[in-house]
Formats: sequence, C-alpha cells, structure tokens
Amino acid sequence: MNGEIITIGRELLMGEIVDTNASYFAQELANAGVTVRWASQVGDDIEHLHEVIKRALGRSQVIITSGGLGPTSDDLTREAVAHVLGETMSVDAEMLAWIEGVFRERGITNMPKTNIKQANIIPSATFLPNPGGTAPGWWVKRNGSQIFLTPGPPREIKQMWDNHIGPAVREMTGAGIVHTRILRTTGITEGGIDEVIGDLFGKENPYLGIYAHRDGIHLRIISRAPTRTEAEALTAPVETEIRNRIGAAIWGVDDETPSARLGQLLMDANMTVGVVDSGTGGAVASMLSQTPGHEHWFRGSLVTGPGGAPLATPLLETMLGGVAGKSAGAVSEAAALQMATSARELTGAALGIGVTPPAGDDDEQMKGTIFAAFVTASGQKVVRGRFYQSPDRALPRAAMFVLTEATSALASDEV
Ligand code: ATP
Ligand code: MG
Repeated sequence: MNGEIITIGRELLMGEIVDTNASYFAQELANAGVTVRWASQVGDDIEHLHEVIKRALGRSQVIITSGGLGPTSDDLTREAVAHVLGETMSVDAEMLAWIEGVFRERGITNMPKTNIKQANIIPSATFLPNPGGTAPGWWVKRNGSQIFLTPGPPREIKQMWDNHIGPAVREMTGAGIVHTRILRTTGITEGGIDEVIGDLFGKENPYLGIYAHRDGIHLRIISRAPTRTEAEALTAPVETEIRNRIGAAIWGVDDETPSARLGQLLMDANMTVGVVDSGTGGAVASMLSQTPGHEHWFRGSLVTGPGGAPLATPLLETMLGGVAGKSAGAVSEAAALQMATSARELTGAALGIGVTPPAGDDDEQMKGTIFAAFVTASGQKVVRGRFYQSPDRALPRAAMFVLTEATSALASDEV
C-alpha cells in the first residue's frame, strides 16, 4: 500500500520551521504497515496544491496532509482537495456550533467570521475531531484512496493520529499492533554493541534497530502482532537476552529522560542530589529543574565560571574543594572528585556531582574534555567526555552526558 505525505505552508519552504510533521507521519505510517513512497512540501498556493494533491490521488492509497486548515485566506488545503475531487464544500452546522463553543470557552463571544470556513466539509469527507484547536481535520474516502487532512501544530496531529488516523490506517493494512520498546544505553559504542549482540539483528519480527542518540545509543525492539499482549510477548525475550549481555549499559527505557530516570532512582533509594558545576554552565541544574517531582530530590547546584583560580574568591575556592587554586589540575579526575565531594557538603545531598571546566585550546588532544564525578557515602566514580562544539550545543550535550552517566552509575550500584 503506497503512502504519501504532503506538508503545506510557506514557512516550510522558507526554512523557517523544520518539517517534523513529515518525519512524524513517515514513522507512524511505516509502523502501521504503509510504504511511504513520496513526501512533498508545498507552499500556500492553490495551483500548486491542486497539482500535488492530484498527483497523490493518482498513485497513493493513503495520503496525509498537514497544515493550511487555519482560518486565514492563505489556508487553502480544504479548498484544494474539494476542487481536485470535484466536490462542493458547505458549512456543517454542528461543527460550526462546536467551533463557536471553543471561542466562548476562551472568553471570545464574537467568533471571527473567518473561522466559519473551518466548519466546511465535502460529501465524501467526515471530520476528524481536534480537541486541541479550532481546526478539525478531514477524513476523505474516494475510490479506494483515503486522504487525511490534518492541521499544522504537531501536538494536534499526534492526537489525531493516535485516536483516528492510526487505527483507520491499521485497519486498511491489517498491520495489527506494533509494539516498540526502546532500551537506552550509555558508555558503549555501536560497534561494541554489535560485537556482543550482533546475532540478534537482521530478524523481521521482532525487528531490532540501533540508533545513535544525543543521550547514547538506543536499541529499538519492534514487534508486530494482532494484539498488544502478543506483541509484548514477542518483545520480552529479546529484551531479556539483551539485558543479559549488556544490562549494565542500559540506563533507561522508552521515552525516559536521563534526569527523570535519575530522579526515579533517587526517590527509590531515598536519596538527594547536589551539584558543583564548572563545565555545563548550569545546564545540569536546568535539566534537573525541568523534571517533574525534582523538589523531592534536587538539593541545589553551585555553578561557577570555567575561569578557575584567577577568578575564585577564597570562599569560592573552598567551595570548589580547593581545586580552583591548583590550576594545573582544574581539568582532572581529582578535581572532579573534590567538586563532587563539596557538592555533598554544600547541599547535604546523598549524591554529589562534580563537573570540571572543559580543557582549553592549548592541548589539541584534551580540548573540550570534562571530567564528571559521582560521589555517595558508599562509592565514587569518575567519567570523562569531550564536547568541542560551540557552547550552545556543547553545554546541553555535556549536561546530558553527565546525567546519563550519573543515572548509569546509580542504576548499576557503582556508587
Ligand atoms: P492553525 O489553525 O493552527 O493555523 P493550520 O492548519 O493553519 O493550523 P499552519 O498554519 O500551517 O496550520 O501551521 C500552524 C503551526 O503548526 C505552524 O506555525 C508551525 O509551528 C506548525 N507546523 C505547521 N506545519 C508543520 C510541519 N510540517 N512540521 C512541524 N510543524 C509544523
Ligand atoms: Mg494557519
């Protein structure tokens, strides 16, 4: 079954927004058993819209559009589809009342006249509800093809896919349920993983994929079966086998973030965390602070500039464990350990994290290297990473690295 994605909007072609909707639908359609053969981006131009929609209808059985369902005159997707299908739009009274209701809930009694057109529909379409916005989608069935019109905002299309489009497409393809399990690893390379579990790759169902991600290598187990229970039963033995072989490298699953996983581990162990950070500009503290429930386990962070000794006051130097004074060792295991130890003393946390400043330009081999230490009452661990991109990219990456390593150290009882 051929699938086709059409993302609509001038902003896409101007490079102002990244077309995440196309990749989202591409992934979901593939999971639902549709082979996506074409994806196009088109501006808000009625002639060009006619052209791509007509071509899609001639070659694809599942067509998904995104964007152009808004109330303004450059939102033309409905008009274009109606024209190509040779159908006439009319306002659906029930939908109009619903849209007016949305405005009333937002405290607007006089809905702008332009929004009326969002209640337009053609005979061969039904509406796809959009609880998150004012633009309902369309679900068109014509001559064996199905066209789904969705709005632009990614949050709105996700719920439309989950609740309506996904189940409909799965019914068309007979794909059944696709169950995905992600195992998130750290401290191990793609090659290293392949060496140990290489024999598990190359199978169809469950399929095992490997992807490099910002927070480490992800392993993705994808199982297809008629029901969720059956799909999970296919996944489980593969997960067990992987854990038997590289369990220590797995720090989280599915959509867990390092900071959420760390928070969970801390809560489970009745522990708290404190940070002394000269290496991520506060990004570690920022990520911890964005984690729901962090008030229960995040004690605080001291963030210093990377300048070291010349900039430190005696008080700051003490807080940094004296390392700032010994400039030769500012980027070293010893410094990281001292900082992690002072993080515990400063904040009274059970787990102290210390992050050294990055090594400077003078040593090509070391440039951008940081050391991070994790210290508890019962153990300690130091890791090193290297981040030599510009600071806007390097700092969040370094923080992600620190949190992933902290999670891994705690999860495998190394600290
Ligand atoms: P609305 O009623 O919200 O205006 P719409 O159907 O008119 O919906 P657009 O105006 O095309 O949709 O897009 C609304 C917003 O959705 C855009 O500003 C953009 O942030 C986001 N968006 C649109 N298309 C895409 C896309 N292909 N990928 C990611 N985001 C998108
Ligand atoms: Mg719009």
